[in-house]
Amino acid sequence: MVSLLYNVLRKMKKEIYNVVIIGSGPAGLTAALYTARANLSPLVLAGIKWGGQLMLTTEVENYPGFPEGILGPDLMANFRQQAEKFGAEILNADIESVDFKKRPFSITADGNVYRSKSVIIATGAKTNWLNLPSEQKLIGRGISSCAPCDAWFFKDKKVIVIGGGDSAMEEALTLTKFASHVTIIHRRDEFRASKIMLDRARANKKVSFIIDSQVVDVIGKEKVEGVKIKNIKDGKVKEMPIDGMFLAIGHSPMTPIFKDQLELDEKGYVKRIGQGDGPGKFQMTTSVEGVFAAGDVHDYHYRQAVTAAGYGCSAALEAEKWLENQGK
Ligand code: NAP
Repeated sequence: MVSLLYNVLRKMKKEIYNVVIIGSGPAGLTAALYTARANLSPLVLAGIKWGGQLMLTTEVENYPGFPEGILGPDLMANFRQQAEKFGAEILNADIESVDFKKRPFSITADGNVYRSKSVIIATGAKTNWLNLPSEQKLIGRGISSCAPCDAWFFKDKKVIVIGGGDSAMEEALTLTKFASHVTIIHRRDEFRASKIMLDRARANKKVSFIIDSQVVDVIGKEKVEGVKIKNIKDGKVKEMPIDGMFLAIGHSPMTPIFKDQLELDEKGYVKRIGQGDGPGKFQMTTSVEGVFAAGDVHDYHYRQAVTAAGYGCSAALEAEKWLENQGK
């Protein structure tokens, strides 16, 4: 009721925001913190399931500043609290459409149209999963998609990595620093991975390969105890006891809503178009001036919470500078 009244009043005021941030993972909430502290009174359209990928993880041990580690949802609650403390307005609303073709830009969420002079897109990317029910219920309990985050938990354990691309090789090599053995399971006999990465994985004594095979089930109630693997050529299914399973079958950027509005690359990531250095030149920019991108929505290389937060900060500083240039 209160929020309904609030939205009606807002519509009547026809408020134009300085900056609307779409997304509320580390990139979006860092952008919110910085733009709030710059007195830009940002609005964050956080999504009904706010907080991003860290809301799905348990312990986060590689976010600087937390020597004892911190639970992913607690970390995101801290991000949010800190942004709100400086005046960021955060609505848990999913966006329905955007219009970046004219300024002020319009973003429709929950049936309301929000207008803004600038926009920071921080919608992130989602991990591709196999989507087996047995897999979904064990995410964070032996199933992960981030070896740099979770390899430590698999000291002297047996793990598998699913995928045949560079990520799978990289994840496997990271895991060898802790796990006793890493098996890469790939659905074909040819690999998408670059030769150098594949050679590195092949040369590592802790790594073995199962090709032409697909994981069809995960065994274990409270934690991963094994998998069922089907050979695609002969159809035979074998059980393999393991302690952990890492998915490296790609990510999907959360960009379908922007596809007619902004330039995306061939994989659907927002194209970041740096304008070079110098007065009147901006970084973190997209194909639409005044629309900036931050975090995994454009970065498929690092995909870390801390890099996303860094990009959020950069996008906020650039948006601030751009607004100043426009006479705000
Ligand atoms: P990718 O190259 O698209 O590879 C995804 C892999 O997952 C493919 O082997 C694919 O099999 C497999 N796969 C997809 N869906 C599957 C499913 N449902 N079940 C089983 N397997 C499935 O993705 P990526 O490895 O994440 O790499 C993304 C980009 O980042 C690439 O350009 C890559 O070069 C780059 N990258 C570079 C580095 C590096 O240079 N150090 C590290 C990581 C990533 P198929 O081959 O049969 O399609």
